[in-house]
Amino acid sequence: MNKSIIELDSVTKKYGNLLALNAVSSSIDQGEFFSLLGPSGCGKTTLLRTIAGFETPDSGTIRIDGQSMDGVEANRRPTNMVFQTYAIFPHMTVAQNVGFGLRRQSLTISELRSRVDEALKMVSLEGLGARDAHKLSGGQRQRVALARALILRPKVLLLDEPLSALDKKLREQMQLELRNLQRAVGITFVLVTHDQEEALIMSDRIAIMFEGKIAQLANPEEIYARPNSRRVAEFIGNMNFLNAEILSHQSETTTTRIDGLGVIELSNDQVMCARSNSDVVAGVRPEMMTILNDETTAVNQQFSGKIVGRTYYGDMTYYEVLLDNCSAPVTVSMRNTVGRKILSEGTKVRIGWDSNSVILL
Ligand code: ADP
Ligand code: MG
Repeated sequence: MNKSIIELDSVTKKYGNLLALNAVSSSIDQGEFFSLLGPSGCGKTTLLRTIAGFETPDSGTIRIDGQSMDGVEANRRPTNMVFQTYAIFPHMTVAQNVGFGLRRQSLTISELRSRVDEALKMVSLEGLGARDAHKLSGGQRQRVALARALILRPKVLLLDEPLSALDKKLREQMQLELRNLQRAVGITFVLVTHDQEEALIMSDRIAIMFEGKIAQLANPEEIYARPNSRRVAEFIGNMNFLNAEILSHQSETTTTRIDGLGVIELSNDQVMCARSNSDVVAGVRPEMMTILNDETTAVNQQFSGKIVGRTYYGDMTYYEVLLDNCSAPVTVSMRNTVGRKILSEGTKVRIGWDSNSVILL
């Protein structure tokens, strides 16, 4: 069992009539990279600020490292926060910014210098201590903000969309750096993001939030392959939804009829909806279907259809394929790899898929 560092017990926060956090209960493990992921307005920032002590919950409790945070001021909590807009002081040097939080601790000059150097090294800014903060690039500023938070050696670092102001290339680079930094320092990171790819890349576990509630909490692979509701499935990646009907339940399997695919037997761990549910859909990701050529054998279901649309992404092509006996097309993504021709609209194709990748929602 992993030791938990943050325990949330029925944490509720209202702004007037708006329920920003609706009885959130969860626990975050020591040393993990934990992400809060959800659409804008779902309560991510509110939850993070409540953990930090900038907001007080209306009810419920927060424990950090076993201690109740009731009545504990933000600056007395073992947490530190990195904000969306990195509030660094432009008129100070990099080193003064990074060492700012240590000014009240009675350190000698050489202790202070070595702590600052150590923090700058963590974020790959060694040697830049004397530079004016306003002369830094966006990525460097965000590193300064990180170093300034890490130098205080918090038990938990709270990060609210820390990369959202960076352009795409730099953001992707910083995602990997931040993940590696977290692994290296071993401090628990709680990241708020609305970017599903960012959460998948960086996190040990992801909590998906909608309307002030955690809808699913799992590791990235599970969230992606086994979303527990249609809403989560729609939020993470692309998924085809086909009307379906449950025909019978066995002890290990469920027999279902899926539009265009006929009757298949699924393992019960693929059934995410209530077993009594009659109104179900089958979900299958575009990359879990393939346009067959003669070499393809790793599938256990085959269907024929016709390409009715396509979108070219360079490395990938997304095909809209109308299966025989199906009223709406499904999306099939294909990697444009060695020996794969880009197919044109109107081409008749065989589609293969592995029924293990289908889920019922
Ligand atoms: P997210 O970070 O997921 O985008 P927030 O936690 O910022 O969402 O906001 C959750 C909800 O609470 C939103 O509807 C937002 O408008 C509302 N909200 C947040 N802060 C305040 C506040 N200080 N006063 C009133 N409403 C707020
Ligand atoms: Mg927010």
